[in-house]
Amino acid sequence: MHPHLLSVDSLTRDSVDRLMHVAARMEPIASRRQVTRVLEGAVLGNLFFEASTRTRVSFNAAFCRLGGSVCDTTGFTFSSMAKGESLYDTSRVMSGYCDAIVMRHPDQGSVAEFAAATHVPVINGGDGPGEHPSQALLDFYTIDKEFNRLGKHLGNAHVLLTGDLKYGRTVHSLFKLLSLYDPMRFTLVAPPGLEMPAALIELVASRGHRVEERSSLADDYTDVDVIYTTRIQKERFTAEMSEGFSLSRDFTVDRTFLDRRCARDTIVMHPLPRDSRPDANDLDVDLNGDSRLAIFRQTDNGIPVRMAIFATLLQVDDLIEKDLRPVRWFVPPRVGIDDPQL
Ligand code: ASP
Repeated sequence: MHPHLLSVDSLTRDSVDRLMHVAARMEPIASRRQVTRVLEGAVLGNLFFEASTRTRVSFNAAFCRLGGSVCDTTGFTFSSMAKGESLYDTSRVMSGYCDAIVMRHPDQGSVAEFAAATHVPVINGGDGPGEHPSQALLDFYTIDKEFNRLGKHLGNAHVLLTGDLKYGRTVHSLFKLLSLYDPMRFTLVAPPGLEMPAALIELVASRGHRVEERSSLADDYTDVDVIYTTRIQKERFTAEMSEGFSLSRDFTVDRTFLDRRCARDTIVMHPLPRDSRPDANDLDVDLNGDSRLAIFRQTDNGIPVRMAIFATLLQVDDLIEKDLRPVRWFVPPRVGIDDPQL
């Protein structure tokens, strides 16, 4: 793997497969059955200049579960960037303190600029509307695990990507990552003005995949294997776009939509957070507890995948099995009250 993880563009099918393999070996640690200390003494710098719960905390937890420690900073207000410090200076300073750095920043390309100033591995935790490669890796890991459980194969799969496909960095990364694999079918459903960038559609189509665009979910999707819904990224809208924007109910994925228009084994994913305010019409909570809703399995998968990214970048992936001990504290058999038995 490349010394940094900045974009899916640096990944190959082989490097993704290797990471998936390492992630699977992390499962006993991620699910709190075993403990390792392979990163004992190592320090992670978590630099988040945009809102985050999952990405920040799961990178943090993944590093700690490998035995490392984490230094965290959130927002511009409490960082020296508020005093005009450049990405170059911040990068060099952080590199003197940390063995790996995860950064999220509102500007596309900023994490790559930060990484260009250091030899310490940098992971892009989301650069504006650009990319979110670790999310794509955990999404891919989730699809692979769910397909294994359902006896399905990736080749010929039908994936529906819906919501804000213009500013949604997770769908940009996932669309490119899936396109590294055997020909699939993609249906893209976005509200007007929030369509997938044309360059990405061209890239994926040039790799032999079938890509179709539609403007509403009011259709039959009985042969769709995966529905990947996304939040409308209003924080990236111009003032003009924000004025009077509201998402029609036609874009809501809920129990009625799944029961009436999809197959019984369609899985539903979302990078989260879902916007649960009444007019948001994002992924509905009426699917909670339904085994087709894979969103919390997806967030759980963030831990083994992010552990695998650290272990690979810091070159300890071969040491994991040599260093395992059983956990000594209480761990509930299921962590969520609505988690379905699969
Ligand atoms: N958490 C994801 C991201 O940071 C998705 C979202 O915010 O809607 O891109």
